[in-house]
Amino acid sequence: MITREVKIGNVVIGGSNPVMIQSMCAVKTYDVEKVVQQANLLYDAGAGLVRIAVDNPKDAAALPEIRRLTQTDARQVNLSVDLQENYRMAELAAPWVDKLRYNPGHLYHFEPSRPWQEKVQYIADVAQKNDCALRIGVNSGSVDPAKKDKFAPDDMLSPMLDSALEHAQFLDSIGFTRYCVSLKESDPYLTLEANRKFAAARPDVPLHLGVTEAGAPPIGIIKSRLALEKLLAEGIGATLRISLTVPADEKNLEVEAGKQLLEDVKAGRFTPENAWDPNGLNIISCPSCARVQNSRFVDLAEKIRTATAFAAQRKFTIAVMGCRVNGPGESDHADLGVWCGPECVNLKKKGQLVGRFSYDEIVDVIVNELRVASCELRE
Ligand code: SF4
Repeated sequence: MITREVKIGNVVIGGSNPVMIQSMCAVKTYDVEKVVQQANLLYDAGAGLVRIAVDNPKDAAALPEIRRLTQTDARQVNLSVDLQENYRMAELAAPWVDKLRYNPGHLYHFEPSRPWQEKVQYIADVAQKNDCALRIGVNSGSVDPAKKDKFAPDDMLSPMLDSALEHAQFLDSIGFTRYCVSLKESDPYLTLEANRKFAAARPDVPLHLGVTEAGAPPIGIIKSRLALEKLLAEGIGATLRISLTVPADEKNLEVEAGKQLLEDVKAGRFTPENAWDPNGLNIISCPSCARVQNSRFVDLAEKIRTATAFAAQRKFTIAVMGCRVNGPGESDHADLGVWCGPECVNLKKKGQLVGRFSYDEIVDVIVNELRVASCELRE
């Protein structure tokens, strides 16, 4: 599928350009040294774009130095900024990066009475002025609440699709076409369907592919591949990210997994459908990023995965999230969901808050809940 071309720094995605692999930093954005180290790690692994979260002026203030240290004779790292709740960070970040990602589902947080169209117009103006591309990044865990209300509560796909199409149409209407779109779900088959439908409706718009909160390897890679292999083989996708729950200094694994995926699709090697059982225990965990509220998150996700292995055959979903950005939303759809705070971990059961637990006690609490649920399922 030949889409529009979109220039991001020194790369162009879409058109007949090769699929670009990207990844994201998982260290605090204000810690310049660590961000530069990680950006270089990702670049050296083969990332064409490195994304950084910017949520506040302190994060934004680090960008000039990050930019300076990642544009050297040895490396020219293309940078993208991830805007979430405070879209106004765009004007502080844009002069130092090549792309801005905004999430339509988070635009209502800041200046709630201002129409979203005005906010997007502002982001597009900032992007235009600073020679940046945009990504409309729709995520089912944080989809626009107005879109959720339009559809049945169990319909995860329509709100995402509606939101992505609406924002694409709006950017076109104001004459800003230098953008790509992503529609990410933690279920590979929903991600597959959402992207197929978007591509059918808007074959001109380049897609950034990814399964969100895919989890730790190897299952995180398998879930990503189940969706992305098919899309790529159908000619859908201009860039991709494999999101993996791994320690920050192993983030290059995301890029390695992306390279292997492209190589395998080209060679016709595909993951068997039975490599992942959608009717078994499903652990969703975020890849972590600068917003992670306690560095124990990745370790906690691994402990939960190991401690719940006894229930591998049970149809049960546990969401393990690093912060409240997508945490509460993703947890609402899981049988058990945790999202991490600085000192404690919040636990939800089928969307209802059960309580807050320490990092030391939460694994046992989850195991007990899972045992109870397993007994209930047998009865
Ligand atoms: S849930 Fe929070 S920490 Fe995890 S990837 Fe999303 S924004 Fe980052």
